[in-house]
Amino acid sequence: MYPDRVVSGMRPTGSMHLGHYHGALRNWIRMQAEQPCLFFVADWHALTTHYDDPSIIEKSTWDMLLDWLAAGVDPTQATLFIQSRVPEHAELHLLLSMATPLGWLERVPTYKDQIDHLANKDLQTYGFLGYPLLQAADVLIYRASEVPVGDDQVPHVEMMREIARRFNHLYGKEKGFEEKAEDAVKKLGSKRARLYHELRTAYQQEGDAAALAQAKAMLDDAHNLSMIDRERLFGYLEGARKLILVEPQARLTAASRLPGLDGRKMSKSYGNAIALREDKAVLTRKVRTMPTDPARVRRSDAGEPERCPVWQFHVVYSDPPTREWVQQGCRSAGIGCLECKQPVIDAIIKEQEPMHERAQPYLNDPSLVRAIVADGNEAARKLAQETMRDVREAMGLSNG
Ligand code: SF4
Repeated sequence: MYPDRVVSGMRPTGSMHLGHYHGALRNWIRMQAEQPCLFFVADWHALTTHYDDPSIIEKSTWDMLLDWLAAGVDPTQATLFIQSRVPEHAELHLLLSMATPLGWLERVPTYKDQIDHLANKDLQTYGFLGYPLLQAADVLIYRASEVPVGDDQVPHVEMMREIARRFNHLYGKEKGFEEKAEDAVKKLGSKRARLYHELRTAYQQEGDAAALAQAKAMLDDAHNLSMIDRERLFGYLEGARKLILVEPQARLTAASRLPGLDGRKMSKSYGNAIALREDKAVLTRKVRTMPTDPARVRRSDAGEPERCPVWQFHVVYSDPPTREWVQQGCRSAGIGCLECKQPVIDAIIKEQEPMHERAQPYLNDPSLVRAIVADGNEAARKLAQETMRDVREAMGLSNG
């Protein structure tokens, strides 16, 4: 099996806000400590909807990267890179497009939604139709085992899996596969080679799932095998195909949904966002002027937290006793709204202090961010090139 790997990207939208932090970045930060992660700026994806005005993409890319670092994405743990600096993504996208049925792309639910949602833009383009396929290439090129997604993105991962499966089915018939697999078996050493054959026979002739699991575990432990030999032996166990692309799993992320200041989705374009590194005075003013339950016209009017966007902030930021204090105080008019908002202001300021600190060296010397990303681009490209060598070979293209 190929090593576990998580891949996730974000379109360059410029500076990040708290919606991004609670919706995605906190998950990234958690995952980077658990397994190898590749996080990338999806600048080509930005072009699928902003092809007519690309002027902000580059600045947005660097602003966003700085905020990732400020938030705690750690370049010593995760690989940070820019999609367009790894041109192999485009090559794989092109090659996958040869065999991807048009209907698969047209039925992706977000395709029609986005066309309706962005009705002011002409999205009847080849690039826009193909963006889920580019997303598939972004993930498959790293043979990622997992892709962190929200519920709405699950169909995209499902399509990635179908594309990988179809690719392996069409192109996984390696010339001389059986001979190469038998050569790889010999590399296991005589004792393990005999066991491999026994387990393979038990699985193929009797459907013995335990034998399959035991053989896979043995291969996982066979550190002297090259990655490609290991893959051959995995394929040989179950049939006679080589797994060139890996079917990734959707990892559903338990993101807290932090709404905007007005209760709608947090978005810079709605003017309801709190930046990731907000100035303290601006932050305080923004929260103090947040709308509250309209029933609380006067201080003495009782309110209902469920009707108030401030309550959603307490859900994310406050401990149970504070939340209880809000519930009781609001419904009994025992507390005023400004009083209620103060713990939220204090919590956000506390959350953002380390972000300001982490950002400072990068603000003082922006070349540090460039250097981190240059290293990330190189590391990502190396992995992408490994996959592309196998893809080209499988599709009958020259690697020379
Ligand atoms: S007391 Fe708090 S929860 Fe209730 S309306 Fe005011 S701000 Fe909202």
